[in-house]
Amino acid sequence: MTEILRVEHLKKSYDGFLAVNDVSFSVAKGELKALIGPNGAGKSTCFNMLMGQLKPTAGTVWLDGKKITGLRPREIWRRGVGRTFQITGTYPSMTVIENVQMALMSHHRKLYAIAPRAWRLYRDEAFEFLKTVEMEDQADRPCSVLAYGDLKRLELAIALCHRPRLLLMDEPTAGMASSARIALMQLVADIVRDQGVSVLFTEHDMDVVFAHSHHIMVLNRGELITEGSAEEVRNDARVQEVYLGG
Ligand code: ADP
Ligand code: MG
Repeated sequence: MTEILRVEHLKKSYDGFLAVNDVSFSVAKGELKALIGPNGAGKSTCFNMLMGQLKPTAGTVWLDGKKITGLRPREIWRRGVGRTFQITGTYPSMTVIENVQMALMSHHRKLYAIAPRAWRLYRDEAFEFLKTVEMEDQADRPCSVLAYGDLKRLELAIALCHRPRLLLMDEPTAGMASSARIALMQLVADIVRDQGVSVLFTEHDMDVVFAHSHHIMVLNRGELITEGSAEEVRNDARVQEVYLGG
């Protein structure tokens, strides 16, 4: 399997407190990988270092064999690492499709072209992205009236406009009901399968994790304690100990 991301001996210390301690892993092309672990395990700290938001105390991050440690978020994004935000970054007064059109214009570096012709130009392409996230029937609704789960789908469509090769999703289903969580991750799994994009995500609902990940890594107190398939992780005594507090 071709590797897209490699993380080696990643560490983050907050005033001497090791939030992430010597974490190493890789993500393959077309892989849907989960990073799980209890609250405070260091998942978001890891994600923020991968995206360039936080500078690692030590360690190296490689994307396609090139070192990206210490690069600015914008540069990492430009190299094909997309993300979804915990707080949605949509324009509420615009319609669903207009939000996608904006993202496409930004991707094609045509932000200056806010002219009717440019809008028409990107409408068809935007519609395709809405189909990918099953929102084509909501294209002309203002974002302000969308249900929370639909906003999350729209946010996913916007992230996809930039053709990421690796998508980082830190708790993409936070605040959603269980059935909506499963539906959103099913959609992400379909996108991974159809488009060959790689996804690394965190999620605290174990049903969702076990249903949709190819591979699961378990973080506890800043350290990776185990990794493997859903079956392997589910039956791992260390994981049960961490989650059941036994
Ligand atoms: P998770 O996402 O797994 O819940 P985090 O990465 O948010 O965990 O946090 C890991 C640990 O680092 C926690 O103990 C948290 O309190 C601590 N932490 C996170 N951010 C900061 C910060 N900016 N300054 C100090 N400590 C932090
Ligand atoms: Mg977190």
